[in-house]
Amino acid sequence: MNVLVAAGTTLGDLQRRPLLDPVDQRILVCHALGIGRTALITQSERALSAEEAGRVSELLQRRANGEPVAYIVGRREFFGLDFETTPAVLIPRPDTELLVELALQRLPPRGRVLDMGTGSGAIAVAVAHGRPDAVVTALDVSEEALAVAARNAQRNGAHVRFLLSDWFGAVQGEQFDLIVSNPPYIAQGDRHLAQGDLRFEPSGALTDFADGLSALRTIVAGAQARLAPGAWLLMEHGYDQSEAVRGLLSADGYTEVQSWRDLAGIERVSGGRAR
Ligand code: GLN
Repeated sequence: MNVLVAAGTTLGDLQRRPLLDPVDQRILVCHALGIGRTALITQSERALSAEEAGRVSELLQRRANGEPVAYIVGRREFFGLDFETTPAVLIPRPDTELLVELALQRLPPRGRVLDMGTGSGAIAVAVAHGRPDAVVTALDVSEEALAVAARNAQRNGAHVRFLLSDWFGAVQGEQFDLIVSNPPYIAQGDRHLAQGDLRFEPSGALTDFADGLSALRTIVAGAQARLAPGAWLLMEHGYDQSEAVRGLLSADGYTEVQSWRDLAGIERVSGGRAR
């Protein structure tokens, strides 16, 4: 689809006849022009110069070509905080806020938290921001992701220790009071990988290139030895994986194994307590 906004088009025209999803368009028009949401209303008669129309057209065209809004504007809100988002990291999802809430409820005073596969740092930064007493460690196998995550910690005034690590590699011999993760859990070849925003996200953050459970298996198996007795492991997973993940946890001797539903009513997070 070709998107072209002509010079002389007013902000009001754009809103009356949106060229793509109105919410996406509003964000992109504001970003292209460097204006806030209210200006769209208070300046509805404002006509775009040729140069402004060109900038708006370019962003709307990128969106029409499928590029995620969060990558075009370079940011996304998560848990009330502002996160830089680049194609090196998964775009934070509202579903994942459930994992943060469960973590905040279970973290003891001055608790040591480990976020495995932190990506943008969304989970680690939200936990560290909400609980400044916590000692938060976040790891990722991607150096590019860690650079984004470190900037997100700084941007939000959160203290997080970042480690370049292939799963437990860099935290041998350490102990934690809570381990959280939103690992890659989409099976190789799943049709969702070829749809929507996922086409533009780092594939290593989405899929394990196997049955979808291999990262979850690695985390379940390795966390037991690195959790304080009775400490929680909480993991996000796919819409159809809760039973399998509870099975992994139970087989490994975790107690109070259970799943929690996201806003859509889907069992999205499962967890249990270490022996
Ligand atoms: N929740 C994401 C999606 O299905 C996947 C995130 C992940 O694999 N951890 O779009």
